[in-house]
Amino acid sequence: MSQTQNDSTIASNYRRILARISAQEQHAGRQAGSVLLLAVSKTHGAERLREAYAAGARHFGENYVQEALDKMTLLSQPPHALSDITWHFIGPIQSNKTRNIAGAFDWVHGIDRLKIARRLNDQRPAHLPALNVCIQVNLSNEDSKSGVTLDQADALCAEVAQLPRLQLRGLMAIPAPCQDQAQQRAVFKPLTARFNQLQQQYPTMDTLSIGMSDDFDAAIAEGSTMIRIGTAIFGARGQAADTGR
Ligand SMILES: *Cc1c(COP(=O)(O)O)cnc(C)c1O
Repeated sequence: MSQTQNDSTIASNYRRILARISAQEQHAGRQAGSVLLLAVSKTHGAERLREAYAAGARHFGENYVQEALDKMTLLSQPPHALSDITWHFIGPIQSNKTRNIAGAFDWVHGIDRLKIARRLNDQRPAHLPALNVCIQVNLSNEDSKSGVTLDQADALCAEVAQLPRLQLRGLMAIPAPCQDQAQQRAVFKPLTARFNQLQQQYPTMDTLSIGMSDDFDAAIAEGSTMIRIGTAIFGARGQAADTGR
């Protein structure tokens, strides 16, 4: 598909996903509006983010720090500055990137080590509110080195909850791809159970960040409060990062 054709569909894709979220909330007996749509814009240029924004998107997810910083700069330029975007860092976190992440993002989803949490806490600028964080749990994915086990999540939550410049918001997971919805739900279930337990201990925990383009119906049925959708909004990702410059 050409760039132009893709661009013309971003807004309608975004609205279509919103409608599907509504339908699935209702189907699953969830409260209307309980699931937030995070538009995962990694590799897509700033102009494409503007299209999603025009359709109502205010939460964007990015995986690559420099690419994200470039887009933040482009989108904050007058005369069409977009000043009310909430930026989520959802990629793997390297130690040498924490300063830029702590300085520019509102949320970080992939916390799986105390060392990274401490760095983000120490580097969060004083003029910004506490950085919202989710602990990443590795549910099924033998291929992925990211994420703590469900049992380790308790200990990491306890330590992160002590860090004053971080706000512990919830759990995040990226299960191995699987097409069967019953199986997708079975993988999410123990995470939801653990999330519900942890919420009793940590009142700031209100976010279960699960569900991507191929499994968000299952994720909503299992209690997701934030789904992270890239391909189904922006189309397929190219090889190279296109930051719109
Ligand atoms: C890329 C990415 C997504 C979006 O995936 P799609 O399948 O394109 O919807 C969601 N979450 C994370 C952590 C990602 O890296």
